[in-house]
Amino acid sequence: MYWEKEIETLDRSGLEALQLERLKITLNQVKHSIYYDRVFKDLNINADGVKTLADVEHLPMTTKDDLRDHWPYGFLAVSKDELIRMHSSSGTTGRATVIFHTANDIEQWTNIVARSMYMTGMRKNDVFQNMMTYGLFTGGLGFHYGAEKIGALTIPAGAGNSKRQIQLMQDFETTTIHVIPSYALHLMSVFEEVAVDPRKDTKLCRAFIGAEPHSEKMRKKLEDFYGFKAFNSYGLSEMCGPGVAFECPSQNGLHIWEDNFLVEIIDPETLKPLPDGEEGELVLTTLVRDGMPILRYRTKDLTRIIPGPCECGRTHRRIERIKGRTDDMMILKGVNIFPIQIERKLMGVPGVGNNFLIILERAEFTDLMVIKVEVQREYFMGDLRQLETLRRRIVEELKSDILITPKVDLVEPDSLPKSEGKAKRVIDNRKD
Ligand code: AMP
Ligand code: ZN
Repeated sequence: MYWEKEIETLDRSGLEALQLERLKITLNQVKHSIYYDRVFKDLNINADGVKTLADVEHLPMTTKDDLRDHWPYGFLAVSKDELIRMHSSSGTTGRATVIFHTANDIEQWTNIVARSMYMTGMRKNDVFQNMMTYGLFTGGLGFHYGAEKIGALTIPAGAGNSKRQIQLMQDFETTTIHVIPSYALHLMSVFEEVAVDPRKDTKLCRAFIGAEPHSEKMRKKLEDFYGFKAFNSYGLSEMCGPGVAFECPSQNGLHIWEDNFLVEIIDPETLKPLPDGEEGELVLTTLVRDGMPILRYRTKDLTRIIPGPCECGRTHRRIERIKGRTDDMMILKGVNIFPIQIERKLMGVPGVGNNFLIILERAEFTDLMVIKVEVQREYFMGDLRQLETLRRRIVEELKSDILITPKVDLVEPDSLPKSEGKAKRVIDNRKD
């Protein structure tokens, strides 16, 4: 039942000793990057000064902005010819943050993905259909390599093309899928359309769902319809991608692989560490990465450590499903979008007024982004075709940047609510 019994069930003191040893190696490795070399010098940090895990508190935190500001190679801790792969976070076609991997980094990542999948019961006789986007996004190749490592027949279906997905499931007797929960929800309507009952007409028994927040109610809805067990998969490109934390058969929190990551939960205001059980921001340090090690990365994801042991016998602590974010990042259909991206695009279109509002809706089977945009008054006078031309242009501009197609409503100046102080740009009406 374990992929690596010894490491998965290592007692706390053994795990912490391993973490400390790996943290020390990591600290000596990060010094090779231009970024940390400078930060260590500026803050007078001595890598050899770290004697216990608690000393991590004195190390600098790292944010997405730091990664962006030192794009593309500022965080590289090896020479470029050691690298074999690049990935980036989902979203924006603009300058996304990029992560580089050496052969060893890919091997480590593949191993924790395999470990995660194996933990849920997946074996070499399973047929795995990966319904995630392949490419820069980590959900495609990350899972692909993990599944092959287990030895399962892997179908790199990629995202979309729903009827074909269903056909593949039937033709090749897929048992396990990896899918974004909102897409799994959407696919339910396609199953109904083609009159295929996943419970009777497919061999599906397991799904990995992740890349975006979802509730317990959503999981139940999917499990009821498909007849599979759905396991929550959490990860982020900055740490590797999927495989960072994963649900075990108890489906009660996600084991975070502490031999690969040092875990902290901090108060996002004071940045002080919080004890197990209290909700705060998840902060992670890579422990086995050579190419681009990252210290104390502020994920901006809100969760808490679930205190106490798990009945599955694994000792790596569990985090609760992600509650939300400390920043304004939205995740729609698995794509990360910041309101500032929308603002930048809108402000570049002549005719657009001063205010806009983003409303996220969940129709029965799909997520929708509605953007209400104030435009100059003259567009509402005379020939209304101009208004439609402007609307189409805005949709095209946005689509090229945020990768999803929003519904754009143009409204008259001063018709949207004005907020005092910091503008409230997003209303999220998505319920389960
Ligand atoms: P990316 O860098 O594109 O891999 O996006 C990573 C972000 O996606 C995380 O920081 C989370 O905000 C979100 N995310 C990934 N997996 C999950 C999950 N299982 N539940 C909730 N949010 C998730
Ligand atoms: Zn467990």
